[in-house]
Amino acid sequence: MRRTCVIGAGPSGLAASKVLASRNVPFDCFEAGSGIGGLWRYGNDNGMSGVYASLHANISKESMSFSSLAMPEAYPVFPHHSMVLGYLEDYAASFGLHRHIVFGTRVTSVRPLDDGGWEVVCRSRGGVAEETRRYTEVVVANGHHWDPRLPAPAVPGAEEFGGTAIHSHDYRTPDPYAGRRVLVIGMGNSACEIAAEISRTAARTFLSARDAAQVFPKMLLGRPADHLVWSPLSDLPRFLKDPALRLLLRLTRGAPARYGLPEPVRGPLAGHPSTSDELLAQLARGAVTPKPGVNSFGRDTAVFRDGSRESVDAVVYATGYRISFPFLEPSVFAAADGRTELYLRTVPPRIPGLYFMGLAQPSGAAFPLLEPQAEWIAELIEGAVALPSPTDMTRAIAREWCRHRKTYVSSYRHGIEIDFRSYRRALRRERRAGRRRARVGVPALPAVAGPAPAADAL
Ligand SMILES: Cc1cc2nc3c(=O)[nH]c(=O)nc-3n(C[C@H](O)[C@H](O)[C@H](O)COP(=O)(O)OP(=O)(O)OC[C@H]3O[C@@H](n4cnc5c(N)ncnc54)[C@H](O)[C@@H]3O)c2cc1C
Repeated sequence: MRRTCVIGAGPSGLAASKVLASRNVPFDCFEAGSGIGGLWRYGNDNGMSGVYASLHANISKESMSFSSLAMPEAYPVFPHHSMVLGYLEDYAASFGLHRHIVFGTRVTSVRPLDDGGWEVVCRSRGGVAEETRRYTEVVVANGHHWDPRLPAPAVPGAEEFGGTAIHSHDYRTPDPYAGRRVLVIGMGNSACEIAAEISRTAARTFLSARDAAQVFPKMLLGRPADHLVWSPLSDLPRFLKDPALRLLLRLTRGAPARYGLPEPVRGPLAGHPSTSDELLAQLARGAVTPKPGVNSFGRDTAVFRDGSRESVDAVVYATGYRISFPFLEPSVFAAADGRTELYLRTVPPRIPGLYFMGLAQPSGAAFPLLEPQAEWIAELIEGAVALPSPTDMTRAIAREWCRHRKTYVSSYRHGIEIDFRSYRRALRRERRAGRRRARVGVPALPAVAGPAPAADAL
């Protein structure tokens, strides 16, 4: 009998569960924590949430809403993490999802069987006994922001450093940093927001970045910056979009140099946007001192690439996350160097019955893509759509990596970066093509029907 296993009840697993439930596809969802919401559950007892006390969504409530349920009107533009969790609770309750979820149960092994199914081993919290079940499909929705990534190799002298050093995953409040000299390493959203928060009470705050990045204000021309995804600017071809956005940033925020930040070499669309009004304000006030990359540590010092040296007594590594699947043998599937070999960021071409949800990072809206992705997976499970041949999917992935290299900064952080609109279009196109393939019963038509997908599409 067909039965699908969903791993994780964060936003991705909830979207998958909602769609499978609405189509009467039999499934079980296993969740390591004792509640839904994943990362958005502050202090989640799964030990995997890096949300800190003051965190607000860095994109607007519209971009944080699933296609089928808008966030409440009464919510502010950038809701607090507790509100996002409240919204996810409403979503799960509205669609009756709790009864499908086995809480406090961690999937420890997922193994393909010779007959085409999957063996899933799970362990309940505190339980010594493991349970083994068989499934016809597995949907992996275990998140990609929980396994802290530290500089590798480590910064020379890091082991000699005598102060405190944590990853941003373990940061909760600025209290331990009051009156101290703090170095925050990184230039992503967490680095920017944490440096700004710490700088209100720290003696000194340094923000060290190896590479220049654009810091976006949260609002542009009176609208949330992520609404650019829906604006006419998004329809421009890439060679016009980049300079237009650069100009918009100049007119609203000013040049990076006004904040002591270096100007990124590539256009604003080449990297995942870091958004922080507070960082810009704290830089302008001199409360945060920008620094280039760290070359080495001493017992109580950090030496930077430009030869400058600062005494430091605490370090926060906001250096991002590894993409990990501890329950899968790397020979089955792994994300090497932050890259995933997935057709439309969902299907590993030669592993039937295994699907991945939410393993893509759009600049801006993310949640609105989850239900369409889950619909496609459900259609594949039901046989309503058919995939291209494994060879065609592998070719499509290779083409996509070529485009990706030309579009984005080459780094671990950008391995799963996608363009929201191109991805949504590519999903629609694939679902249409898949229906045609299923109708004619030929599963081996070309990977992408019609014209090749737009740049940075898959
Ligand atoms: C500090 C920070 C701020 C962010 N802010 C935003 C924002 O403002 N807007 C935005 O759109 N995104 C933001 N993100 C991105 C965030 O990853 C997504 O919003 C979203 O939480 C991804 O959902 P997910 O379900 O894929 O993963 P998660 O939310 O991480 O959920 C994964 C779930 O899977 C479960 N799980 C994992 N492994 C297993 C296992 N082996 N067995 C059983 N269960 C398992 C976990 O317990 C968890 O509940 C932020 C990320 C970080 C780190």
